[in-house]
Amino acid sequence: MKEHPLRTTVIGSYPFPGWLEFASAHLDRFGPDDIRETQDDAVVCAIHDQVTAGLDVITDGEQTRLDFNLSFYGFLSGIELEEAPRRRFGPPAHDQRGRHRIVGELGAPRGLGAVEEFQRLQRLAPPGPTLKASVPGPYTLSGRLIPNERYPDRWAITEALLPVVQRELVALADAGCREITVDEPSMSCYAHREDPRRFVDIFNRTVEPVADRCRLSTHLCFGNYKGHPVGKRRYAPMFPAFLELDVDEIHVEMANREFAEIGIIAQIARVKDVAVGIVDVKSYYIETAEDIIERVRLCLKYAPPERLSLAPDCGLSQTARWAAREKLRNMVEGVRAVRKELGLA
Ligand SMILES: [Zn+2]
Repeated sequence: MKEHPLRTTVIGSYPFPGWLEFASAHLDRFGPDDIRETQDDAVVCAIHDQVTAGLDVITDGEQTRLDFNLSFYGFLSGIELEEAPRRRFGPPAHDQRGRHRIVGELGAPRGLGAVEEFQRLQRLAPPGPTLKASVPGPYTLSGRLIPNERYPDRWAITEALLPVVQRELVALADAGCREITVDEPSMSCYAHREDPRRFVDIFNRTVEPVADRCRLSTHLCFGNYKGHPVGKRRYAPMFPAFLELDVDEIHVEMANREFAEIGIIAQIARVKDVAVGIVDVKSYYIETAEDIIERVRLCLKYAPPERLSLAPDCGLSQTARWAAREKLRNMVEGVRAVRKELGLA
């Protein structure tokens, strides 16, 4: 199902254009049709930049998740947006994000919105690249909900959200989506202090109905809120347990960790495809095509080309658009050069 060896892909998010950030701060002045037009135009921008870079796989850049109401939490019933975060000033960190109180039975009567996002991408993308959707897994989605009597801890909230995410995956497959990333960065952030087999069990139960219908992948990163990691940046605690994840491809971030633990990709490639983060989304050093060639050659010491995909470390939403554009362009150029060198072009 992979386009060709050494395919180029992305994780999901792409920076908002400046005007979109401005518009999303003034959504109350927009009518519903204005918002729809704004969303379409933003997705056109994200598609344009990705297609121009020459990627094999593109996404909608998550351009439509403009505010609470349009984010996954906005689709959940049984919750309310809590007041302002407890820390509102000072250096940016994840403790400045709001958490939501649970006030009823958790559900998503209108789905999570990913199907509409995918259909918009289908409508606006040119023929050629593979179109990928991404949905957070239930453990990650539970992270900003506050436990209560009915749902006493994060595990209970996760179990309540599992069928919600599962229904979204089935709806995406029904809509013709052939590649889905189920994002569980919280699992990689907390694997060092939890039982990784418990995570695998949750993940596999979530994707079970679509495992044979779509190409499935997951993105294991250590966090990128405002460009900062939050987890203990080690893959070792996850493996070998995570080799049992029911996915076709596992993505790992390597560039901003100076390719520490690169050996892990050999373990993954023995049983499934591996997407390697070779572009540092947290650095404003722009990797040149030569840097990329060097990095792909390093990956090839551990995994064969038919098992390898190349990508940035994480979504690009926290990287300025000018840098995101140049990084993607150089990534594709470098990967193509290696393909040519190996006679795979
Ligand atoms: Zn990430």
